[in-house]
Order: sequence, then structure tokens, then C-alpha cells
Amino acid sequence: MTPAIPEMIRQRVRDAGVVGAGGAGFPTWVKLQAQVEIFLVNAAECEPMLKVDQQLMPQQAARLVRGVLYAMQATGAREGIIALKEKYQAAVHALTPLLPPQVRLHILPDVYPAGDEVITIWLATGRRVPPAALPVSVGVVVNNVQTVLNIARSVEQQYPVTRRTLTVNGAVRYPLTVTVPLGMSLREVLALAGGATVDEPGFINGGPMMGALLPDLDQPVTKTTGGLLVLPRSHPLIQRRMQDDRTVLALARTVCEQCRLCTDLCPRHLIGHELSPHLLVRAVNYQSVATPQTVLSALTCSECNVCESVACPVGISPMRVNRLLKAELRQHGARYEGPLREADEMARYRLNPVKRLIGKLALNAWYQDAPFKIYDAQPAQVVLPLRQHIGAPATPCVQKGETVTRGQCIADLPEDALGAPIHASIDGTVASVTEQAITLVRG
Ligand code: SF4
Ligand code: SF4
Repeated sequence: MTPAIPEMIRQRVRDAGVVGAGGAGFPTWVKLQAQVEIFLVNAAECEPMLKVDQQLMPQQAARLVRGVLYAMQATGAREGIIALKEKYQAAVHALTPLLPPQVRLHILPDVYPAGDEVITIWLATGRRVPPAALPVSVGVVVNNVQTVLNIARSVEQQYPVTRRTLTVNGAVRYPLTVTVPLGMSLREVLALAGGATVDEPGFINGGPMMGALLPDLDQPVTKTTGGLLVLPRSHPLIQRRMQDDRTVLALARTVCEQCRLCTDLCPRHLIGHELSPHLLVRAVNYQSVATPQTVLSALTCSECNVCESVACPVGISPMRVNRLLKAELRQHGARYEGPLREADEMARYRLNPVKRLIGKLALNAWYQDAPFKIYDAQPAQVVLPLRQHIGAPATPCVQKGETVTRGQCIADLPEDALGAPIHASIDGTVASVTEQAITLVRG
């Protein structure tokens, strides 16, 4: 490998606008600057209703392996690991014969949250990321399946990110997994799945554990849209998300019995982080009992939702309490520093089997396959937000009335700025340019 290759990989990944497709959209070229020992593909996909990665892996196994090798070259990693679940048998069969000696599969247990990258690293390598630290601190860089496929496309074909694969599941006529142009409205995506099958649907952007309530379906598909989950508005997963902050705090203040189940099941606590949600709930009740260090530990909550949806027997959401604390702490520029303690010896057994989780979430009636369908979706209009990533928003480099072609860069940043460029996802004309988004109309 010549010294120029890692730089070329990072440049092409940057120019293609690749960002972490499984999370907050961290620019991938920045991640690939780290020099580490292990590059890990997080292929757990442990949100029960999402079926994207498990279907992309067998379809594009060779590209995935090549993407791992490019990422290993860029990061200097000597080992590549694709961490997936045994039940993704088609993926295991497709990948196994293609693996070079430096890349291996790791079979994860079918538990939630095996896909929380800190937990994935622990399960796949035994390494524990300290609280508030990044995976690179233990010599690991993690990306998910779609991100690694985008790395391969960008390196080999200089192919920008203009499409997103997502699952539409729950109360829909034809549950499916589909690839669509970025910027297409979720309303049109729902139409591909035949529409909702309940009179008063509620919508979640992503999976049932970590997805956010959608106010409407006018939102566009972005580089980080994980899925569209449709449930009756009366479903507990919708109702819980509709609770306002006052109600969440009032519940925490009045009914917490300090049973500490939320802490005993908190994945971060189990692997040795200080985070103890029962103490944070107590802190909002009796502020004088909490040390500043305890309050700061809220910053290390991954918002996995186990404490709310699985643990608490009386309907409190320690996660939402943490979210409120985090917002306040961040306003003051607070940071957490704390020790990594011994992991709980029962940690592995206290993660949540997905089958049991589905029952706990009252999803049995909605849990179903969402097979991959190929549609040549041709939206008449796409809305492309200028911030689909962590960092600065991209700056438009086109004007209203200009003609653009699919793949053309329409918003960019200075070379070294944290962020990622945005590309036209259809051939068309620029209909509007605002501080938030560029709208393109077909033709
Ligand atoms: S959401 Fe709850 S269970 Fe998950 S990390 Fe935060 S405190 Fe722990
Ligand atoms: S599980 Fe619920 S009741 Fe028990 S300590 Fe945590 S917030 Fe309080």
C-alpha cells in the first residue's frame, strides 16, 4: 500500500458526502483519520422492526468486504470485524467465503442493545469504552453497513450519497425495505408501502426503541433516516413519546420507588460506567442528594431507552429525565469525566433478548418481515436539508433556477470543516434555496 492511498480514500469519502448512516451522521472522512487497531462494522441492527442491514449484507456482500478493506487501509487497522447476529443466516453464508484472513465475522447474541456501538465493541472485542470517551480510545473505529457500502462506492466509483435504504414497517399494507432518493417525503415513502392500515396512525422516525415521534410525514428522507414505523396513535410507543416534559418530570417526582431496576438494566452501567439512572431520577426529586458528578453522568446516557421501555415498573422515563439534564448541562458547556469501573458480572445476561423485547413493547401484532422491494421512485420534488450530519451546515453552491443533474454537488463546506457536502438526488431544477434546505423539482 502506498502512503497516498489512505489520503485518497478519505478524500473520496469526503467528496461523496458519506456520513454515519446509523446514527447522528458523523462525517465518515473524519472518522477515517483515526489510526486504530480494529475497524468494526456494526451490523447488529437490533431495533426489532428495522430490516435494512440484514438484507443489504447478502445482496452486497462483496462490496461490504471491500468497504471494510478500504476503511482498514485508511485507519491502519490490522483487523476487520463484521459484527452481526446468527439469525442473519443469508448474510453469514454470503460473507463467509469472501473474507480475507484479516477480516472476521463476530456473531452477536440476539439482544438489545447489541447495536449500541459501545456495547457492540464490548461484545465483539472485549474492550470497554470509558464513559464519555470515543471508540478510538480503545483502538476501534465503528461504522454501520450502509456507511461501509457508501465508502466502497465512493472509493471505487466516486459515487456520491444520493440514496437511502429504509424499512417501512408496522401498521402498513405492505411492509417493505426500499431504496429511495434523498429528499423524498416520508409521505411518498409510506405510499410505496400501501399506506397505513389504521384510521389514526402515529409515526416514528426509526425503530421502536430509539426512533423519534414524527409530527407529520412532510419530513424528507435524509442520510440518517433509519426507518418509518407506523402504529396506531393509541399505541403505548406513540403515547409515551407524546408526553410533554412537564408530565415526564411530574411522574419522576411523584411515583419513583427507587427500586433501581433502571440502573440494574442500564447497559452503560452494566459495563462499568458510573451512570445510574435511579440516582438521576432521585436528583430531580431531591436535588440536595445528588453530587455534581452524579448529575454530570447524565451526559453519558446513550438514550437506548431500556430504562423507560423495559425496566421501570411504574412508567417513569429516566431516559427523558437524562435528556432534559443533558440539554441543561450542555447549555453550560459542562463535560463529564469519570472512571471506568469493573463490569457487572451479570452484564451479558442482563441485556434484553429481542423476542422478549417485542412482547414488552406490545409489538407482537406488528412484528413482521419487511422484504426488500425495488422501486424506481421518481418523486416530483426533493427537499435536501443542508445539515444532514454533525458539524456545520453545508453552504449552497447552486442558485434558484439552475439545472442540476443527479450526483452534482449542490452544497459544500471548506475542505477541512467538520461536515459533508450535499448532492442532487434527482435530475432537475433548483426551485428554492433557503438557510435550511435546497428544493429540487424534477425536469
Ligand atoms: S437510556 Fe436509560 S438505560 Fe439507556 S443508557 Fe440511558 S440511562 Fe441507561
Ligand atoms: S425503575 Fe422506575 S421506579 Fe425504579 S428507580 Fe428507576 S425510575 Fe424509579
